[in-house]
Amino acid sequence: MLDYIANAYFSMEIALQSNIPTYSGGLGVLAGDTLKSMADQEIPTIGVSLIYHKGYFKQTIDSTGKQKEAPVKWDPKKFFTQIPNKVTVTIEGVEVTVGAWMYLLQGVTGHVVPVVFLDTNLPENKGFYKTLTDSLYGGDSRYRLAQEIVLGIGGVKMLESIGCTKATGLSTYHMNEGHAALLTLALLQRAHWGSSISISEDDHIDLEDACVFTTHTPVPAGHDVFPKALVTKVLGKEFSSFLEKHGIMEKSGLNMTKLAIHFSGFINGVAKRHAEVSRKMFPNVDICAITNGVHVPTWTCPSIAKLFDKYIPDWKLDNNYLRYACELPLKELKKAHEAAKAELIKVVKAKTGKVLSPNVFTIGFARRAATYKRADLLFEDYSKLIKTAATFPIQIVYAGKAHPADEGGKALIKNVIGASKKLANKVKVVYIENYDMDLGRILTSGVDIWLNNPIKPLEASGTSGMKAALNGVPNLSTLDGWWVEGCVEGVTGWEIEDREDGMSSTKQDLKKERSKTAEVLYSKLENTILPLYYKQNDSYCKIMRNSISLNASYFNTQRMVGQYSYLAY
Ligand SMILES: *Cc1c(COP(=O)(O)O)cnc(C)c1O
Repeated sequence: MLDYIANAYFSMEIALQSNIPTYSGGLGVLAGDTLKSMADQEIPTIGVSLIYHKGYFKQTIDSTGKQKEAPVKWDPKKFFTQIPNKVTVTIEGVEVTVGAWMYLLQGVTGHVVPVVFLDTNLPENKGFYKTLTDSLYGGDSRYRLAQEIVLGIGGVKMLESIGCTKATGLSTYHMNEGHAALLTLALLQRAHWGSSISISEDDHIDLEDACVFTTHTPVPAGHDVFPKALVTKVLGKEFSSFLEKHGIMEKSGLNMTKLAIHFSGFINGVAKRHAEVSRKMFPNVDICAITNGVHVPTWTCPSIAKLFDKYIPDWKLDNNYLRYACELPLKELKKAHEAAKAELIKVVKAKTGKVLSPNVFTIGFARRAATYKRADLLFEDYSKLIKTAATFPIQIVYAGKAHPADEGGKALIKNVIGASKKLANKVKVVYIENYDMDLGRILTSGVDIWLNNPIKPLEASGTSGMKAALNGVPNLSTLDGWWVEGCVEGVTGWEIEDREDGMSSTKQDLKKERSKTAEVLYSKLENTILPLYYKQNDSYCKIMRNSISLNASYFNTQRMVGQYSYLAY
């Protein structure tokens, strides 16, 4: 299994399956899907992340719309094997022991990609240091920086301990987002084992050869920056002065994205638009684009999978064949979608007690409740929505967690719950608690349209829309992230025309623009999408089919890991 591994893929979160709570959202899902496709394609890779004994959190929402968070209870032994290897890292001058759990990810042909989950909850550690692998995105910046030491430095050492080194063929360290950037320092330190950290021109070339960095964040505020005093205290004086001497530590502190960029020979954004935005944010840095995808076997619902099995037999082995979906019989596609919708309705009833209708046009919206995603845009004008729904019935399904510290995100959930009460019998709105991967698949396959309306250009890629497309569900979205590339108006779905104002606008501008965008959204629904669905359903179904043949055949992680292999590794 560990005979030959050429690439190590580091990520703060990795989502392997719904009930392993080591993920919060898109970043983790992408990491898991990437590793699954690497296994499918037999790309010799190992994944590295942290085990989170309390998960991200379990979400409940009370009747007023208030989100409550509780730790997830789970037992890693059910899914992983604890390995005996242990390494140490220094945090705040304290030697912290890092252990590991192993998960073996098997691809379609049987090839195995191991995934290592690091753990500090060991008898050797005390207090704060013992808790470092408890919560994903919990705690303060001291906690986060300490976690990043475990991931980056502990990860490199653990790989060495299990026999994955340059000597055995490990040549690429892929940092999925800046959280893993400290691995660069571990590699440097190892090159000069025993003496103080330094760097020569040759070292720099070696590092650039080895390091690949994928950035995911289109706004400056989204990048981790740790104050210098904190870095000196937590990471130690030696690393801190090294970073300062080489201009990586700035007045504002240590920017993990800049650290990763500094030592990486290949840097990419996660969609074409995102790469453009990133190049503006980091001028003089060569940032290319490898657009995200989703792992096709994971996200295809059972009824659609059965249809693919019948007409596109090798679809799992080679996702390119999904282009032949253009010839799927419309009647059978409709039937498969009806089954997916029935499953969604069943789950909604079980989880909320509310009964949706199979004959009503169903809008789906599920994503992290972050303010820029504007979950409540659809409720900008109640009377307009009610009027439209009187002619063409609509029901809406929501899900999504807000980060525990994100008051704006929590307010969004409240607004949606408020709207569901206000609209009561006129437009049925349900909010399903505790969005996870299983719900993600059920929602993206069971609704009739997948709605996304982020403020441009704040959505780096987005992947839930790709899951929808794969299941024959058209997208309706502002032209941001992957949809810039995936939207063929009236063919694969629809655009919500919107100004690009995520970066510079004033609050008043944003408000005005918001109502304009909402108007565009209503008009698109009322004049284009709903009449098509209710009066020319075959034409609607052709758009469903195009979603698969044009978009699922491209926006998958099989195509994506191929690009990483030949461009980056
Ligand atoms: C796919 C998925 C995401 C990411 O979707 P976005 O479109 O990027 O918001 C987040 N959470 C879960 C549970 C998912 O399945």
